Order: sequence, then C-alpha cells, then structure tokens
Amino acid sequence: MRRHTKIISTLGPASTDRAVIAALIEAGTDVVRLNFSHGSHADHRRAARYVREEAARLGRQVAILQDLQGPRIRVGAVQGGAVTLKAGQAVVLSADKGAISDNARIYISYDALDRHLVPGGSVLMDDGRLALSVERIEGCNVHARVTTGGVLRSRKGVNLPRVQTTGPALTAKDISDLEVGIALGVNLVALSFVRNEMDVVHLSKYLRRAGHRANIIAKIEKPEAVDCIDRILAVSDGIMVARGDLGIEMSISEVPAAQKAIIHKCLIAGKPVITATQMLESMIDSRVPTRAEASDVANAVLDGTDCVMLSGETAVGQHPADVVRAMSRIIRTTERHWYDMPAERRGLPEALHQTNNTTEAVSFAACDLAAHVGAIAIACLTSSGATARAIARHRPRMPLYAFTDQPDVIGQLGLLWGTKSFAIPFQHDTDAGVRVVHKTLMQRGLVREGDVVVITAGIPLGRKAQTNMIHVSKVE
Ligand code: PGA
Ligand code: MN
Repeated sequence: MRRHTKIISTLGPASTDRAVIAALIEAGTDVVRLNFSHGSHADHRRAARYVREEAARLGRQVAILQDLQGPRIRVGAVQGGAVTLKAGQAVVLSADKGAISDNARIYISYDALDRHLVPGGSVLMDDGRLALSVERIEGCNVHARVTTGGVLRSRKGVNLPRVQTTGPALTAKDISDLEVGIALGVNLVALSFVRNEMDVVHLSKYLRRAGHRANIIAKIEKPEAVDCIDRILAVSDGIMVARGDLGIEMSISEVPAAQKAIIHKCLIAGKPVITATQMLESMIDSRVPTRAEASDVANAVLDGTDCVMLSGETAVGQHPADVVRAMSRIIRTTERHWYDMPAERRGLPEALHQTNNTTEAVSFAACDLAAHVGAIAIACLTSSGATARAIARHRPRMPLYAFTDQPDVIGQLGLLWGTKSFAIPFQHDTDAGVRVVHKTLMQRGLVREGDVVVITAGIPLGRKAQTNMIHVSKVE
C-alpha cells in the first residue's frame, strides 16, 4: 500500500551516524530537516552529505530542508550550566549583554525587553516549562516573579506571549547559516517566528540575490502570524503549523482549530503544508505511540496536511527509524480508510472545484478523468511544479508523477502530497513527452504494458504556457 502524506525527519544527536540516517531513509523519510537552532555548521554539512549519499545508494528521493532559527529569543549561559528557580521568588531580567545569569538575574537576548514588557505580562522559558510574571520595570531592569519554577539551563528558548517583537527577520546567525545552506544547495528553507509577510519577502529577496532557488516555508508559531496567514501564504511556497511554539505563544486550546484552518487555506491555495511537533513525542523513549498520538497523526492526514514532521522523536529519541515506521503505518491505514469513505464525507473543500484558471480546471479534470478511465497513474509535464500542486490538492488516489526539466523543482516537490518527481530533458513536442513518461515509468517498474495513464501538459511546450491538455494513453 502506497503512502501519499510525506514524512519529515529532523536530524540531531540521535541521528548523526550514517547508519541511522540510512535507516531513517529506508523507513520512509521523504524530507530531512537540518535544524540550525542546534548543531555546528560542520555537523550540518556532514549530515547533508550522508543524506545525499545514502539516498542515492538506496535509490530514494530525499529533499533537504534547512530550518533557520529566526528571531528566537533565548536566555544566556547560566552559572554552572543550570540554576533552579523557585515559584514565588523574585528575579531581574535584563537584555544587558554583561548581565550574568544566576538565579537572581537572567540575561535575555531581546534588546527591547524593557520597552516591550508590561507589568502583568508573562515570560515563558524552556518550552513554557518555567513561567514568570512581570511586576515592574526599572530602567533597563525587568523585575519579575517566578510563577512556575524549575531548572533553567543555558540558552533555553524564551517566549514572550502577546509581545509584538521587533527586529530583523534574519539575524546575523541566520545570514551565516543561510550561506551554509546555499552552499549545500538545500531544497527548502524554513523561517522561524515569522510575524508577517514582510519577514518572508525579506528571506525571498535574500535568496534571489544569492541566486538560490530554494522554496520558502513560513513557520506559523506566533498568534500575529495566524492573524495574517492569508498575506503570509501569498508570498510563501509552503507553510509549517509549528505547534510547539504556537502552543506557548497562544493558548494550547486554540492550536487544533488553528491547525485545521491553516491546512484548509493551504489546500485551497495549492501550497504544501507541514504539521509539526509532538506528533509521536512519547516514542522518544517508548517503542509504541500513545493512542492520542496515533489519532493526532491520523487527524492531521484527514485535515489534509501534505507532510507530518518528527522533531525530538528522530533528533534525540531512542528509536528514530521505528518512529518513522510507526508514523508511516498510521498514515497508510488512515489514507486507506479515507479513500473508502464516500467522496462527500472526505471533507475536501468545495472551493477546490470552483476555478476559472485553466491550469487548475484542467488539473481537476485530469483527476476526474483518471478515475473514470481506470488510470493507474497521473503524470504531468511541469516546468515550475505548479501543475503538480494543482493536481495534488485534489488528493487523487493514484500516484502522481511530475516530470520537469528544472532539476531544482525535484527537491521542492519533496514536500508535496503524493508526488514523485523525475528530471527529464526539455521536450519539444507532446508525442515525445508522452514517450518519455511511458519509458521512465516502465523502467522504474511503476507501470506495466497496457496500463492506462493520464498525462497533462501545456502546449506549446516550453512557453511557460498554462496546462491546457490532457492525454489518455495505454503504456506500450
Ligand atoms: P522548532 O519549530 O522545532 O524549530 O521549534 C517547530 C515548532 O515550534 O513547533
Ligand atoms: Mn518553533
């Protein structure tokens, strides 16, 4: 049974070895995330090399996603590596770089700390495990009281809910990380803590100036980003529902509804969406997921996500490849169940069918036609990948094969639901294009002689024309 929903595995200390990376790929990883919030440049370079070499050896397509830390706020190095904060105690927070971090005074890497925090506001640390309440601000010192205590370790993340942070979208660290990503030729770049569409535009201009064609994924992890999701979506190539930080910056109770609303918008826009964080969290040290986690993965699939992402599960967990296998099984079973449901219960937005755009209308018709003629596959000749996206959003049951003459597009489509892509030379006429599709699919054992395939193209070929043709053929 094939799987349509893609799986992203985050690499980390538990998955630095070549053998573990190979196991993650064999288990079904479609995209590898290099998390530049952690690890050295040397670590990421080595990981990227292992991913490419092992994917080639295993004959698998694996895209590389570089995740930039963005304007993430952190505490500094704390005395002795860890300090204990007790509920009820007073602490002073400061953005003064000279501030030491012990249990009375804590350095926080946000310049406007004293100007943007207000009495009564909260400061959360270490994924919300520690909470402080602001009491008063004196000069550049923010006096706060610990409301939820615990152990604070060096450089843990800080969230300032309801503070509209200022500052550049790309920090000095992001710029130096991007240079590494560009040199590695990463396929996708994710930007953390996107606040509005300008943050994405900034990254997009930077990449274009560097002559790099990676696709941009906006991580939605702040309430203000949820509020302007339409504008962010318009300038991004894809979206990540980053539930980890989102669940700290806004009430956790709002996250499921936000997830559903964002996925719905992405489906309609025909842009890939990733559902991320704590999907199979308990498998960091357990061999089986909880029932709630299995349901979470299944529900993300039913919501219409393109990808599900593993973070700590593969980065620091004890059974990285087992987690990918477990996720893959849940996805396959859920997808089978989804296709067995009557179409009206599958919940695809009605808006998908309403379009006056030729590429979109032809793509929809191709899915419909493929079902009627019993096609074994849908193939599209697509330069930019746009037609693959237009077809994939209808979630056809048969595999979707994208054929492109733009090698960059292959990696970008790594995120796209149900799509496998192939690089082919530029085709000058449609008959030749059809022959290349047949031949490639035959050689890979993906179709057999006599199988019916539906192929879309835009003629005249190569004019960046709209997709305006559907071809039904028997493989020979
Ligand atoms: P992170 O992003 O893992 O880089 O923090 C995902 C999230 O916040 O959910
Ligand atoms: Mn995050």
